[in-house]
Amino acid sequence: MQFDYDLFVIGGGSGGVRAARMAAGTGARVAIAEEYRFGGTCVIRGCVPKKLLVYASEFAKTFKDAEGFGWSVGSPSFHWQRLIENKDREIERLSGIYRSLLDKAGVTVFQTRAVFEDAHTVRLLNEDRTVTSKTILVAVGGWPYVPQIPGSEFAITSNEAFNLPKLPGSIAIVGAGYIGLEFAGIFHGLGVDVTVVHRGPRLLRGFDEDLEIGLAEAMMARGIKLMLNTRIVAIEQGEHRYRLVTATGEPIETDLAMYATGRVPNTPKLGLDKAGVALGQAGEVKVDEFCRSSVDSIYAIGDVTDRVNLTPVAIDEAMRFVDTVFRGKPTPVDHHGIPTAVFSQPEIGTVGLTEEEARQKCLGVDIYKTSFRPLKATLSGSTERMLMKMVVDQATDQVVGVHILGPDAAEMAQILAIPLRLGATKADFDATMALHPTAAEELVTMREKWQPPQAKAAE
Ligand SMILES: Cc1cc2nc3c(=O)[nH]c(=O)nc-3n(C[C@H](O)[C@H](O)[C@H](O)COP(=O)(O)OP(=O)(O)OC[C@H]3O[C@@H](n4cnc5c(N)ncnc54)[C@H](O)[C@@H]3O)c2cc1C
Repeated sequence: MQFDYDLFVIGGGSGGVRAARMAAGTGARVAIAEEYRFGGTCVIRGCVPKKLLVYASEFAKTFKDAEGFGWSVGSPSFHWQRLIENKDREIERLSGIYRSLLDKAGVTVFQTRAVFEDAHTVRLLNEDRTVTSKTILVAVGGWPYVPQIPGSEFAITSNEAFNLPKLPGSIAIVGAGYIGLEFAGIFHGLGVDVTVVHRGPRLLRGFDEDLEIGLAEAMMARGIKLMLNTRIVAIEQGEHRYRLVTATGEPIETDLAMYATGRVPNTPKLGLDKAGVALGQAGEVKVDEFCRSSVDSIYAIGDVTDRVNLTPVAIDEAMRFVDTVFRGKPTPVDHHGIPTAVFSQPEIGTVGLTEEEARQKCLGVDIYKTSFRPLKATLSGSTERMLMKMVVDQATDQVVGVHILGPDAAEMAQILAIPLRLGATKADFDATMALHPTAAEELVTMREKWQPPQAKAAE
């Protein structure tokens, strides 16, 4: 059978753009459809604008810290509109680069929503016509999930938070995953009164418990209110403010309510049923290790598969897909040892197993941890401490996890992912020369195994 294209990609985000470019580079006839702006979540309303807002919000602390180093900063003022305009200009530039990379690679670009007609056919909605392709790649990403409660339509999500017409005086952020906590730090740094409301007992499900506890303490010390074990059952609109009604009855009055309660795959109304593609419980496209769906001609990568929802993972999956389908080198995706950051304030950087996971997987585990006041804090007067924790498999001496809370934690986690991937042992870390004076030198100078307080007392 003759097809219009060898590959049709639905979705021009991190994964889709990379797959389209790389596949075109092999000589394949490739087309891509994007319904909004090229660059997708990461560029338009995710990682990039988020990090720019984090930088903006960190200046408040920097101005304060500067006094201890002899600076008189006066009373700084902040202009939200200027920040958003500058951010938008940068996003526009990046989105343009994504688009021109596709053109340069010889990819046919359709600015439209595309939906399935069958296993080899997609309908281009703006043009009201269909095209056929030998292989179709689903890279449509995800969308914020807001639980349906009375008044949930009054809440914003991270999508809207990037373009608020003005900063609120107060905000209640529902959800304590990484997006909620990052926005808590952003708004707090910009002078907004922030309350984080979470139905569970702990922040950041899936992260090492010491990091979660350390972050909760640090956020509260900075002035962010944390309401754990609190469930919101309704949002009421008052004359000027909103009232979040909790299950226990205690209301939370706020200028703005934001939901950061997870994201769901963007599969509704995509016509995947017409193509016979199997979906999982959350609506994710079910794929094998080669990103192939239940239908041979259809593959899926990135957030729509709801595996590890991060930009570098979507990009890696795109490249493994191209290896498998267009380069004749079937390559499974390796989801192990992915370094992860939370750009909360203070920041988290982590790679490998948590202590809890290691205790389940290894016969014995040694823990090394240290908590200290970074050198910079001595003059700035900040009481915030930095936390570092190393998880070691007793049987092999291999370092299986490192968890850091404090300045530059994300940068450290990226570098640490390399030795951990290579199977570095604690002895390798110990044999590495320290770089002084840094915070990271603690990673090669931790010698004493951590013992729970009761074990220490019994010695
Ligand atoms: C607030 C926030 C902060 C984040 N921070 C980070 C971070 O710091 N680090 C990190 O690694 N990850 C971060 N992420 C996650 C990251 O953005 C995603 O993992 C990544 O963008 C997934 O890429 P993707 O290609 O799967 O999908 P996306 O980037 O979401 O791209 C999907 C694209 O498909 C388009 N589309 C959807 N349906 C159709 C259709 N039917 N037809 C045509 N086009 C369609 C959409 O418009 C979109 O452009 C963050 C996400 C959010 C929301």
